[in-house]
Amino acid sequence: MSQADTPSPRPAQAAVQAALAAVHGTLPFADRQDFTDAERGFLGTLPDAAIAHESGRSVWGMADYAFLAADAAPDTVHPSLWRQAQLNCRHGLFEVVPGIYQVRGFDISSMTLIEGERGVIVIDPLISCEPARAGLELYFRHRGKRPVSAVIYTHSHVDHWGGVKGVVDAEEVAGGRVPVIAPSGFVEAIAQENVLAGPAMIRRAHYQFGPLLPKGPRGQVDAGLGKTTSSGAVTLIAPTDLIQRDLETRRVDGVEIVFLMAPDSEAPAEMHMYYPAFGCLNMAENTGKNVNNLLRFRGAEVRETRAR
Ligand SMILES: [Zn+2]
Repeated sequence: MSQADTPSPRPAQAAVQAALAAVHGTLPFADRQDFTDAERGFLGTLPDAAIAHESGRSVWGMADYAFLAADAAPDTVHPSLWRQAQLNCRHGLFEVVPGIYQVRGFDISSMTLIEGERGVIVIDPLISCEPARAGLELYFRHRGKRPVSAVIYTHSHVDHWGGVKGVVDAEEVAGGRVPVIAPSGFVEAIAQENVLAGPAMIRRAHYQFGPLLPKGPRGQVDAGLGKTTSSGAVTLIAPTDLIQRDLETRRVDGVEIVFLMAPDSEAPAEMHMYYPAFGCLNMAENTGKNVNNLLRFRGAEVRETRAR
């Protein structure tokens, strides 16, 4: 289909307009606490979170979402999606507590950084290398350069490991200098979703997340969890240390981490973490301010709601 044949987006039909207008009376849109929460701990960012491949091709950026600055949702977008899309426009480095930081809005997912004795532990290095690298460099600018002392994948979805080679060299892992920690069943889950079902899954993920659609109130607005998926180099370094049992504890770069298994939850292989020294709990993607997709039309495994 040529560009000229591509149908242009249509205005909302009357039934859609009426259904969306009715939402305003049913939800507390005046409650702006989420916006305050999203600002908390902000340290700095890149202009428009613009991140490019070395060829110059853009792999991520927020400039095209400027239309979301409008307060009121247009009649083509559900008001809750509009609000979530505005919240997801925040990007940059945030302090969770002193010693724990997050890079948000550089991909659909967030990357967490914990300062240890020797360096920094990277948790969930995004979908692709360029955003993960840009996030780590942003962290270095604000907190000082230090080695990556460990990598942890909370679960088997690609937005939690695909950018790993942007933050650590495979040789350093192979040489035993940097452990890579993941939940039991991690590699099998990746093989099922990304290799065996890979081509179909990637194709359908484009329909699910709409990364190739023009952005706008009649185009791609948001993907709920984040804006959309980044399009840089996807990589994988296999774990060197698998967590098998509840309450397994590791001291990683001097930081005590207590693990809790959460298989067949938001992902087939997933785990939570507690960091006693910081009083912080990391629930991976089982707790968030949006509802997980339960039956994802990209074909990933159905999420069993009764088990959660
Ligand atoms: Zn996930």
